[in-house]
Parts: sequence; C-alpha cells; structure tokens
Amino acid sequence: MEGIGLGSSVISVVTPVYNESENIPLFYAELLKVTRALEHDFELIFVDDGSSDDSVKVVESLAAEVKNVENFGIKLIELSRNFGKEIATTAGIEAARGDAVIILDADLQHPIDMIPAFIRKWERGYDVVVGVRATDGHYSTVKKAGSELFYKIMNRISETKLVPHSTDFRLLDRKVVEAFRSFTERQRITRGLIDWLGFKRGFVHFETGERLHGEPSYSTRKLVKLALNSFTAHSLFPLRIAGYMGVIFMVVFGALGLFTYIEVFLAHDPMGLRITGTALLGLLMLFAIGILLACLGLIALYIASIHGEVINRPLYVVRQNKEL
Ligand code: UDP
Ligand code: MG
Repeated sequence: MEGIGLGSSVISVVTPVYNESENIPLFYAELLKVTRALEHDFELIFVDDGSSDDSVKVVESLAAEVKNVENFGIKLIELSRNFGKEIATTAGIEAARGDAVIILDADLQHPIDMIPAFIRKWERGYDVVVGVRATDGHYSTVKKAGSELFYKIMNRISETKLVPHSTDFRLLDRKVVEAFRSFTERQRITRGLIDWLGFKRGFVHFETGERLHGEPSYSTRKLVKLALNSFTAHSLFPLRIAGYMGVIFMVVFGALGLFTYIEVFLAHDPMGLRITGTALLGLLMLFAIGILLACLGLIALYIASIHGEVINRPLYVVRQNKEL
C-alpha cells in the first residue's frame, strides 16, 4: 500500500483563525518548512472567524508570498462575524478539496512537525488520524480535573465514546469529510461528530506547548458550556434524570404514605407513632411531586426522540462499497 499514488494526492490544511495576527506568520513559516519536505500538494485554508485584529491582512500578505511555492496553495474564507471555532472549522472542512483534510490550530499548540506522522498513518489506511495530547502540563489543576471528569461522565452516559485527551488536531480522509458534510446540527462539537462517525481510527501522540501569543479563547466558563453541550448533544441521560427522580419519589413516598394510611386510619396507630396531619400532608405532597417529575421525564423522552429526528443524522455511514 505504502507509496502508491503519492505526490498526486492533495492535502488540505484547515485552520480556524480568531485574532491570531501575531501567530500566523510563525505558524505559516513552520507549515511551509514542513510541507516543503513532503511530496504532496497542499491547500491551506484559513477560516477567519470574524477577527477584530488584522489577521486577514496578515494572511493576504502571506498569500502573495507563496505564489512561487510549487506544492502550496492558500485560501481564505472570511466569516461575516465570530461564529466560534467549531463552526469556523466546519466551514473550512466543507470548502476543502483535498484527498485528506488536516485540522490545525493557528496558535502553534498543535505541533506542525507532526504532520508527516499524520500523513503516514493515513497512507497506511487509517481514515481518521487523531492527535492525542501526551500530557496537559500547562493547564491549571482545575482544568485538568475538569477534563478528567468530563471524559468520565461522557463515556459513561453517551453513545459516542471519546478518547481522553484527544484533540481537534486531526486528519480526515475524503470519505470521512463527505460523511461529515451530512451533519446538519447547529450546536456542534467537531470532534464529537467525527467520533460519532467512527471509521478506521489511528492515533498520534504529541506534547502540547503554551499558546504562543494571545489568550486562549476557551475560558473555564466556555469550557463548562462546551461540556454541557456535549452531554446534551450526545446523550439523553440528563433528560432522563428528572424522570428517574420522579419514579424514586413516587415509589418511596407512595409506600410511606400507604404505610401511614394503614397505620393511622385503618389500624388506629397500634405502633404509637402519633403521625401528625402535617407529616401526612408532607408525604402527600412529596408523592405528588414524584408524579410531576415522572411526567416530566416522560415528556423528556418525547423531546429526546424529537431531538433525534431534528438533528437528522445519517442513519448509517458506509466506509466502503466493495464488489467481490
Ligand atoms: N478560534 C476561532 N474562533 C473562536 C475562537 C478560536 O476560530 O471564536 C480559533 C483560534 O484562532 C485557534 C483555534 O480556534 O486557531 C483554537 O483556539 P484556542 O487556542 O483559543 O483554543 P484552545 O487551544 O484552548 O483549544
Ligand atoms: Mg490554543
């Protein structure tokens, strides 16, 4: 397999850009250095996600420079405003024409010199190559613990299994890109969708460094939001919690209510518990709350099935059709 059709294959590099004017020149120099040594053709797609600095100008002046580099083309997609990284990445993937698409951050946190390793895996027959962080040393303890917790919960409650520390640094084969295009959901986590797709996956391990310039845009608050979004997009469990609680309330307080009813009214307090009217009222109310919550859970099940229908995911994804 190895070595077949090399040189003729085109590789797209998709990079979302949000206020990265300081990082772009370095990012770009590094990318050029790495791709020069390879025999593939490269198409670099910058997706400007409504930057408020001069990122666009920087990209344009760089594009003028690459006119004479043989295996390297550069494209710029400017979004009308800031849509967020996930959407910007999607825009880039949809515009990519390569036989493989590599998704890469502009802040040099994804080591560009790992690109050849990604390509080698792809050429060995993997459809998706996922970059996995070896450590997350530079993140705060809170973020680290948060990410551990996220993967624990997610893998327990969701049908989409995620690999801990897997990043957005990924290579997608053309057939994966085509399947990815069929997703219609708006609230999207690119990496979750790719994991949902399956396909043959290979892994490349790397160390992440500090962001070169500027602040990471994912504050803890944003990360929590992202995590909650992932839970609701890939799992029905949160929707079912209310229902479970309701059923537990109903059973527990129903039983207690029945017991007190018999004890007080039918048997006339043989155990001498002297249950007050207030206590009875409390039990009745808790039982009623149980019924309410259980009904909410029932409604949740309907919402869940509506949710499943509206996001309209493909029923199945074919990896290959073979005539044998
Ligand atoms: N980014 C973007 N839109 C945004 C925020 C970020 O396109 O609203 C880009 C950013 O320019 C970078 C990548 O997404 O290329 C990753 O962003 P960041 O480094 O802030 O995130 P983290 O490294 O924490 O995942
Ligand atoms: Mg970053």
